[in-house]
Amino acid sequence: MALPWLHDTQQRLAQSFRGQRFHHAQLFCGPIGVGKFELSDQLANALLCQNIVQQSAAANSILAPCGHCKSCLLTLAGTHPDKRLTQVDGQSIGVDDIRGISDFMNHSAAQNGNKVVVIKNCEKMTTAAANALLKTLEEPSNSRFLILTTSQAAQLPATILSRCAKTDIKVINTQLAQQWLESLQIKGYSWLPLFYSQPLQVKHWQEQSQLQSIDMLYKFATEFKQSHNFKVLVDIINKQPELVRIFTLFLSEQLKQQLMQGMSFDAYQIAQQALSEFLQNNTKILGLNLPLAVSRLAHILRNS
Ligand SMILES: [Zn+2]
Repeated sequence: MALPWLHDTQQRLAQSFRGQRFHHAQLFCGPIGVGKFELSDQLANALLCQNIVQQSAAANSILAPCGHCKSCLLTLAGTHPDKRLTQVDGQSIGVDDIRGISDFMNHSAAQNGNKVVVIKNCEKMTTAAANALLKTLEEPSNSRFLILTTSQAAQLPATILSRCAKTDIKVINTQLAQQWLESLQIKGYSWLPLFYSQPLQVKHWQEQSQLQSIDMLYKFATEFKQSHNFKVLVDIINKQPELVRIFTLFLSEQLKQQLMQGMSFDAYQIAQQALSEFLQNNTKILGLNLPLAVSRLAHILRNS
């Protein structure tokens, strides 16, 4: 999958590789859905490719796997013994996970070449895990690479940050994201520009058939202060709880517009505070009375 907004970053990585300045520990920071993981995966596959030197020789080239050597066939099959991915959903990355990575790094490569570890959402490392990783970071070896990704760089310990080559991954030219989404037939939604910095998040919604729901949430957010019937809204959030974050984002954007149109700053702050409490309650309180929470929020926003 070619993600055009990543091309400049990919070129810079290839440049540092050609110049033998490529750092053994890469840290990719950026919002959810910007393509950090796709970038890491392609980079990992390239570092394992037996033809990487030829592949990256030309100026302006990027680090990409050749796709046909023995290593590439193994990565394509998802069975490359020298590639390891650590990812967790929800819970934390513990010290045992990191010890497993160190063991993996210490053993010789099965394909007689590089070994690559990708740690997704590395901010989920516990303090003990981060300390255990320091040893691997501090003893670089020529043929061992670590690629970390995070959307929460501020949560990473300074000791980890200072030992990695950090790259901020972001969509600089939003037109590239817009065109890419159009090529997926995603266009015409008024809210779409809010997510040009997270194109893969939008693609994910398309794959999950959620675009329609999000469009409805947007309409609810724009009419929220005037409406009194929240049944459909509550149904959408009940069925797809992860979308409550999107709904509050839409409401927050509405408030920003109202602030620019003359809403008092005090009222604006009260409303934003109510919004973030609403979001927190939704994610933290099990069995929350959603209809009540929604109408309370509407009441506060109406009076602000
Ligand atoms: Zn290859």
